[in-house]
Amino acid sequence: MDKITPVCPPEFLCAGVIGHPIAHSKSPLIHGYWLEKHGIKGCYQRYDILPEFLEQGISDLVDAGIRGFNVTIPHKIEIMKFCAELSDEARAIGAVNTVVVRADGRLLGANTDHFGFIENIRNAKPDFDFSAGPAVVLGAGGASRAVLYGLKQAGVPKVTIVNRTASKAQALAHEFGCDSADWEYLPDILNSCHLLVNTTSLGMVGHDPLEINLSFLPDNCLVSDIVYAPLMTGLLKSAEARGLDFVTGIGMLLHQARPGFEAWFGQSVEVDKALYSLVLR
Ligand code: NAP
Repeated sequence: MDKITPVCPPEFLCAGVIGHPIAHSKSPLIHGYWLEKHGIKGCYQRYDILPEFLEQGISDLVDAGIRGFNVTIPHKIEIMKFCAELSDEARAIGAVNTVVVRADGRLLGANTDHFGFIENIRNAKPDFDFSAGPAVVLGAGGASRAVLYGLKQAGVPKVTIVNRTASKAQALAHEFGCDSADWEYLPDILNSCHLLVNTTSLGMVGHDPLEINLSFLPDNCLVSDIVYAPLMTGLLKSAEARGLDFVTGIGMLLHQARPGFEAWFGQSVEVDKALYSLVLR
C-alpha cells in the first residue's frame, strides 16, 4: 500500500475517517460544515484503508500529524488492538468509532454512537422521559450494542431485545442486563412499550421492509428508527399513520460526530437546521 499522506496545508489541523469502502461516508460533509462555520483552519478527509493495511495506514496518519479520526466498517473492532487506551463506552460496546491521537502518538479509542442515539432523541423530543417506561429494541447487531448501552445510561427501566436470530438477542441480553424475546411474541411486548427502536437493517434502501403491526403500541409510545436511508422508513410512516411520535435516524449520525470534532479541533459544535439540510440534500 502507498504511504498515506493527508493533502492539506501543513499549518492546518487534520482529522478524517478511515474505512473500506469509504467514498459513501457523509462524515467529511458534517465536519467540513463545522470547520467552515467556525472558521477553523482544519481539514477532514476520507482514508480508504484495506483491512490488511490497517496498522500501516494508522501509523502513516499518526506520522503525518493527524489529530484523530473516525472509524467505520470494517475496522471498528480491529482498531481496538491498536489503541493504548479505550474509553469505558468503547470497552462496553465492544467497538471504536472515534480515535484521538495523544501528543505522544498513542491512540485513545472511544465510541460515540450511544451518545448520538440518545442526543438525537433528546433534541428531537425534549419532553421524552427515558425513565418513564420500558423499551423494545429490534436487532442485535453492532448498532444495537451502542443503543443498548445508551438506553441503560439514560435510565430506561427495562429493555427487551427482539432479533431474527434469537441466540444473538439472548447473548446481548445477558451482556447488557436486558431481557430478550422471540419475534413471535412482539405483540405482547409492544403492549407496554414506551420506546420502540429499530436497529435492524430492515427498511434500509436495498433491504427488505420491516413489517410489524404497530396497533399494539400504547398511544404515548415513541418510535425511533436508526436507519436513515430513506429518512422516512416504512416503520416511521406506519408510526406517523398511527398518530405516534417518531424520531428519524439521521440525527444519530450528526450527533455522534460532535465529540470527535470537539476533541480534535477544540471547538464545541451544534447540530443545526442548516447541517440537517446539507446532509439530506
Ligand atoms: P449488523 O451488525 O449487520 O446487524 C444487522 C441486524 O439486522 C441484525 O440484528 C440482523 O439480524 C438484522 N437483520 C438483517 N436482515 C434481517 C432480516 N431480513 N430479517 C430480520 N432481521 C434482519 O448492522 P448494524 O451495524 O447493527 O446496522 C444496522 C442498521 O443501523 C443499518 O441499516 C445501519 O445503516 C444503521 N445504523 C445507523 C446509524 C446512525 O447513525 N443512524 C449508526 C449505525 C448503524 P440477525 O442477527 O438475525 O442477522
